[in-house]
Amino acid sequence: MYRTSNQAYGSGVVTRNKEQMNQKPQDVDPIRIGIENIGNTCYINSMLQCLFNTPAISTAMKSYRDNKNSSELFKQFYKIWFSIQAEIEPEHNDIIQFKKLMNQHREFDNFNQQDCIEFFHVFLDIVNTAFLTQPFFGQLTYQINCQSCNNSSKQTEQFINLSIYIQQACKLSQLIYDYFKPEQLASQEKCRKCQKTSPLTRRTNLSASPMVLVIQLKRYDQRQARSNYAIEIEQSLVLKGFCDQSPQYKLYAVINHQGYTIYSGHYTCLIKGKNCWYNFNDQRVSEYSNKVVDEELQKSQNSYVLFYQRQ
Ligand SMILES: [Zn+2]
Repeated sequence: MYRTSNQAYGSGVVTRNKEQMNQKPQDVDPIRIGIENIGNTCYINSMLQCLFNTPAISTAMKSYRDNKNSSELFKQFYKIWFSIQAEIEPEHNDIIQFKKLMNQHREFDNFNQQDCIEFFHVFLDIVNTAFLTQPFFGQLTYQINCQSCNNSSKQTEQFINLSIYIQQACKLSQLIYDYFKPEQLASQEKCRKCQKTSPLTRRTNLSASPMVLVIQLKRYDQRQARSNYAIEIEQSLVLKGFCDQSPQYKLYAVINHQGYTIYSGHYTCLIKGKNCWYNFNDQRVSEYSNKVVDEELQKSQNSYVLFYQRQ
């Protein structure tokens, strides 16, 4: 379960300035500096590069001034970011220190490979810094109707990413459409109004669209075994039918995962630049032409986390 409660994150709201709203990820090239793998840390490296290349975050980091209220983990995150900004590879000890601070959390208290989306959640939770979390916040509204008397109730839930199961090869837009499709819930409880135990219908709406839409493609089953269904990843998305404003999104980063389970194998990420894509594989950074990435995204078997910027 990756959706979060309303209380889980943040300390206040960061007002987004015009520059942050207008800056498109593809307007700038990422800084081509990789991060050393200190032993099963490719899941951290890939996620950090995606966060550093999220415009709202990089803009906020540039105007950040150290203060004593910042957590140790945030300070270490800042050090790694600062080094990359200066086009110097982050120091070995700074990465060790970052990992040690992540170890505060019991799930990360080992040297195993981890799930990068779990890292995303736990990291944002520990640093508890509004400007890092705010860009990802969206809200879902569930409307639940009794099929006998049509009595309805509403619930809302905040999220920082959508987690979508993959059960067949298809287009991403189809997966999103299915995710928001009305579903029938088998109810064991009596309806408060008509007192009948009848099925309930649940409609999910995207009641607040995030500035950055993060989608996790859940490619593994209960036993954590991976499926390799090819998904067509559209680089432009318009969310229609379950969202009032029909927001448009553009893809700017992809975390790929190769391996048999999500807790093993290898993570890398692709970041969109002005004229091509850049592949970050720990310390190694290489250029991929748009053509190569376009083809790969047409039938992607390794994409695991997708980052879309609202236009
Ligand atoms: Zn009823």
